[in-house]
Amino acid sequence: MRLWIKDPLACLAENAERGIVVDGGKIVQLVPRGNEPDAVAGVFDASQHVVLPGLVNTHHHMYQSLTRAHPSAINKELFPWLTALFPLWSKLTPESHRLATRLALTELLMSGCTTAADHHYLFARGCENAIDIQVEEAKALGVRMMICRGSMDLSQKDGAMPPESVVQDRDTILSDCERVVSRYHQRGEGAMIQIALAPCTPFTASKELMIATAKLAEKHDCRLHTHISETRDETDYCLAHLGCRPVEYLEETGWMTSRVWLAHGIFFNDEEVAQLGKHGLAVCHCPTSNMMLASGQCRTRELEQAGAAVGLGVDGSSSNDSSNLMEGVRHAVMINRLTYDATVTHLDALRWATQGSARCLGRSDIGAIAPGKAADLALFRLDELRFSGAADPLAAVVLCGAHRADRVMIAGEWRVIDGMPRGVDVEKLRYEHSALARKMH
Ligand SMILES: [Zn+2]
Repeated sequence: MRLWIKDPLACLAENAERGIVVDGGKIVQLVPRGNEPDAVAGVFDASQHVVLPGLVNTHHHMYQSLTRAHPSAINKELFPWLTALFPLWSKLTPESHRLATRLALTELLMSGCTTAADHHYLFARGCENAIDIQVEEAKALGVRMMICRGSMDLSQKDGAMPPESVVQDRDTILSDCERVVSRYHQRGEGAMIQIALAPCTPFTASKELMIATAKLAEKHDCRLHTHISETRDETDYCLAHLGCRPVEYLEETGWMTSRVWLAHGIFFNDEEVAQLGKHGLAVCHCPTSNMMLASGQCRTRELEQAGAAVGLGVDGSSSNDSSNLMEGVRHAVMINRLTYDATVTHLDALRWATQGSARCLGRSDIGAIAPGKAADLALFRLDELRFSGAADPLAAVVLCGAHRADRVMIAGEWRVIDGMPRGVDVEKLRYEHSALARKMH
């Protein structure tokens, strides 16, 4: 059915002043000023809405929503923060992982996110089917998802931080990677579920695992993801234990390819930025988490100038401590202005959260409002007190701090109506999730 999203207050697209027509899960027409669309079967009055492409989240650890604002972890930097949380995370169960995924996906969806990546690397005993659970939850909510089959094969017995009970051996990891890619990874335009392969960090995944995972991604033609250059501690660790800097490690392990997107990217030197751009890697900027853990600032400007795509991510809910991507857009403007100057605008941050993030995930069918792209849209109203007096609606959604979409469409279907996700009892979800979280604390 051809639906006209008519006369928006503002729309993040050229020549769409009178709105957008969607049909069959795609955007089929933009309606410029003074024009009418071709015949439509329905009209949605968007005169109170700012219309954005659905936001795309490129880094998260949804299970961490169970340990937000935990007293043993707050007010710490990454390494001591991890050391405090691993023992709690080892208590993850299939039930708590399921509800954590459902909760984080719902939070993201309500903030205007239509495609969500999750990096799940924690395979506590009994949680071997963690990826299968996430596929089920994404399908139930109707959210597009890039599930990163994470992995850790180094534990305390190897001198690493994770307890032995949450890591797996290399053979188990690699065979499960093969299984989930074969079973769930959809290819081509309109894919709802995709799988990426994602060893956790240079200090929790062995060199052999990094190399084997890169080969497997090549074999199955899927994306590769990991954390790199998040903290000075990580660079020091790599120099001391691996004899090289983190980016050199990527090179040594076969990761210098355009199928890779990296989380964080804070401590790259100039040569490394140029190298990453040359090889077409992408970087997920996680402003909220980086500020919360006092890690630093992604080199967004230099990376984009070098040719590397920059996307946006909320990062795990224990280092954010929320899963609100629209809030992350605002944080991105603020931290980048502090690092660079006031020429960083709301449009830059929105570009990172949409087109840039889509490039991180290797997708050309999402992240923009244009004919032929997926009908993934986030619509925000400006009728809260925080927006009153705002003159530029597109600037207002970012600068005044929009944090909840009024309507969200994914593949042409409304998934959020009047600010509420369809088919989710939010109050029940919060109650059950917090009850399971208390068992881990
Ligand atoms: Zn992370």
